[in-house]
Amino acid sequence: MKSPKLLFIGLDSVDSALVRRWAGEGHLPTMARLLASGAVAPIVTPEAVLEGGVWPTFLTSQSPATHGMFAYQQLKRGTYDLEVALHADRLPVPPFWEHLSRAGKRVTIIDAPFARTAKRLNGMQVTNWGAHDAWSWACSSYPASLIDDLVRRFGDHPVPSCNLGRKRTAAEYQRFREQLIEGVRRKTALLRHCLELEDWDLFLGVYSESHCVGHHFWHFLDPGHPRHDPSAAQELATAILDVYREIDTGVAALLEHVGEDSHALVMLSHGMGPFYAGAHLLQPVLDRLGMSGMVPSASDSSVVEQSTWKLRHLVPARVRRHVKGWLPRLASALWRQTHHEVRPWERARAFAVPEHYMTSGIRINLRGREPAGTVEPGAEHEALCRELTEVLLSLEDAETGRKVVQWVARPAELYQGPHLADFPDLLVEWEHSFPIRAVRSPRIGTVAEDFPFERSGDHRANGLLAGLGPRFQSGEIKNEVRTEDIAPTVLEFFGVPIPSHYEGRSVGGALFNGASVRHSSPNTRAAFP
Ligand SMILES: [Zn+2]
Ligand SMILES: [Zn+2]
Repeated sequence: MKSPKLLFIGLDSVDSALVRRWAGEGHLPTMARLLASGAVAPIVTPEAVLEGGVWPTFLTSQSPATHGMFAYQQLKRGTYDLEVALHADRLPVPPFWEHLSRAGKRVTIIDAPFARTAKRLNGMQVTNWGAHDAWSWACSSYPASLIDDLVRRFGDHPVPSCNLGRKRTAAEYQRFREQLIEGVRRKTALLRHCLELEDWDLFLGVYSESHCVGHHFWHFLDPGHPRHDPSAAQELATAILDVYREIDTGVAALLEHVGEDSHALVMLSHGMGPFYAGAHLLQPVLDRLGMSGMVPSASDSSVVEQSTWKLRHLVPARVRRHVKGWLPRLASALWRQTHHEVRPWERARAFAVPEHYMTSGIRINLRGREPAGTVEPGAEHEALCRELTEVLLSLEDAETGRKVVQWVARPAELYQGPHLADFPDLLVEWEHSFPIRAVRSPRIGTVAEDFPFERSGDHRANGLLAGLGPRFQSGEIKNEVRTEDIAPTVLEFFGVPIPSHYEGRSVGGALFNGASVRHSSPNTRAAFP
């Protein structure tokens, strides 16, 4: 008997707390319907890696220490070089739908973040037509000619990249908002078109405009945010809601397309909230503790971003579509050619690893691991980790005296896997309930730095999974659903064996109703090549 179809809609960084609120207020009728009649479960996202680890964990059912993608920039093993770590070709195993494809299921995959286009697929795939991190892979498709046809029909996505590397003017925010809404509309049209192209078993499509709008418009929404301007235009205050509303309309159109007897899973990948963190204060704190010879240039990453932006304008739009995945690499190479002396970490005992925002990272300059290590492995390393942990946990907000660090952890307390050695030695979870401008402690005195980031919103853990259709339960599911559990759950839905390298387990037993348990037991594992 042919297994039922599954429409899987990914909503990138749509915050579930906002969705519950706005659905309750009648703004998001489709989400309200899903919440009221679907199987609903909060998603436990991987800890400390909301910046880059969520989607790769979803794609592979592996922890960030196994797949190795956990931040925008990571230290290159055995060097002091930072490299962009989220290029899609770093994914060590194929995304889960390739197992479905090999098992004879027909799959259509549109804009799954950080998933490169398959070389062979029983079905079709579009990559980075419109995604938040569209630099992660070329805008491309399988079959290869599909993308040109889609662009002819629907145009390019109106927002090629949402990161300007500087603050926007009011007029730019207005235009940006319109482009994001237009992007959702075009994405819906494109998804509906693709729904018709195939007799698919799994159709997976992702909206990412929610990710962009959350990062950039949070301060318009949130009266408590320091950049909030009550006199700003009303459309800016409602920009996040407007984008969510347009996505809600899109989800309704997609659900309409699949019949009553079909199944839908809607995944809110992770959440969004005010960007309150002390990442920008960490290196100055380490400097104050005498951990470094000198301060590494805080502008490295923004220079790379700006160079990328400048490079974009030298390349015609059509060509840009095909090469934009490589631009950050090109910019990094240019940066290195013109800046030879940046090796301040050689002299350090410990340094802040950049590009870790809500959760910061500290790397110990460890002898034998780093090229010019200064700290002995073993007792000295342990003592330094303990000392830094103590100092960080004692930090207070200079104005209010509130603690600014929630916890400090060694990555091995959270994860195990071959990429654990690439992690920082210490992960520092900042307090996220108020802006952190200056910190103090008896040992370091007061350290103050302007908050340098363009974004006003950043990630929260608030993921949510909602299933709708005859095989799904209805109501809130009590069982824990982790990001890595979703892929094996989808495989179980189709009765396809779960690969042995998966770290997640199917939660079908909780999500599916009794009628569906005819497949093999949830945790049946089979060796996949
Ligand atoms: Zn983000
Ligand atoms: Zn974006």
